[in-house]
Amino acid sequence: SEVLLRAQDVVKSFPVRSSGLRRTHDVVQAVAGVTLEVRRGETLGLVGETGCGKSTLARCLARLYDLTSGSVMFEDHDITTLSGREMRPLRQDIQMIFQDPYGSLNPRRRVGSIIGDPFVIHGIGSADERRRSVQELMERVGLNPEHYNRFPAEFSGGQRQRIGVARALALRPKLVICDEPVSALDVSIQAQIINLLIDLQDDFGLTYVFISHDLSVIRHVSDRIAVMHLGKIAELAPAEQLFNRTRHPYTRSLLSALPHADPDVADSRERIVLVGDLPTPTNPPSGCRFHTRCPKAREDCALIDPPLVPVLGDGSVHETACLHPLEVGEDLSLATPRVDD
Ligand code: SF4
Ligand code: MG
Repeated sequence: SEVLLRAQDVVKSFPVRSSGLRRTHDVVQAVAGVTLEVRRGETLGLVGETGCGKSTLARCLARLYDLTSGSVMFEDHDITTLSGREMRPLRQDIQMIFQDPYGSLNPRRRVGSIIGDPFVIHGIGSADERRRSVQELMERVGLNPEHYNRFPAEFSGGQRQRIGVARALALRPKLVICDEPVSALDVSIQAQIINLLIDLQDDFGLTYVFISHDLSVIRHVSDRIAVMHLGKIAELAPAEQLFNRTRHPYTRSLLSALPHADPDVADSRERIVLVGDLPTPTNPPSGCRFHTRCPKAREDCALIDPPLVPVLGDGSVHETACLHPLEVGEDLSLATPRVDD
């Protein structure tokens, strides 16, 4: 089918240790009810500020975390409650690439054996065959296959991320979840790794969930974009539609901070500066979680938690979780908050 992965009402909570003498049992809902589909062959971008829960959601989708509630379907498999052993055959299909390539590579192991790990774990091939496969992978991701016996410290940051990519692709996965894959790299290296990932997507028939706090990176790689705010999806739309027909005030405020793609063009957009209480995930606001900062908030926003629903008139491809979505082209900087609290 067209849908490769489907997350339904995914919730992930963590207990938080309180500081001080008072013993409390606070819970932070890092992911607070996320429903989304990942379609075969697409790149679904997941964007949001630090702490919005996007990395936690990624780990829920890959079943590296147990869910607090909700479900994750991968193809025909309900993977929500599978044990580690039951997940093992599916581990071949779902791989992750992490932000910090150095932190995820054992410094005392040779790169060839790091990349070849998945073959050993899954009992694939003879030692000779594994070595050949690893060297082919190294070549494919732009590493010199002769450097098979080197250690991670002998590679640059960008090369280390290529090692991480090679390892993730070893088992020919269907879905690769990239969690801030270029955020730790120099800007000059970022484009190389992004372009590598785009090339590999075609060659290997991959589906990506691509997570970043960087909207310009997300715009460049994504077919569809989900905007996450305090554990929930605020808006989800095809990439250009999200930029050109923005409906959610939070998305608009994020976009307003983005520099214009062409620096020679005077930027007519007003930068929207949010005022109001900055909410915390341990104590999210009632109703719409954006209402304490939203320039369009009205009284009902503090009472009703808006579900993510299709935007009328845009078909079912564009969804937003807002009681009073922006009209296309509406100037949010002119809106004034209507809630006193
Ligand atoms: Fe703003 Fe209300 Fe929409 Fe939330 S529901 S984004 S507070 S207008
Ligand atoms: Mg993160």
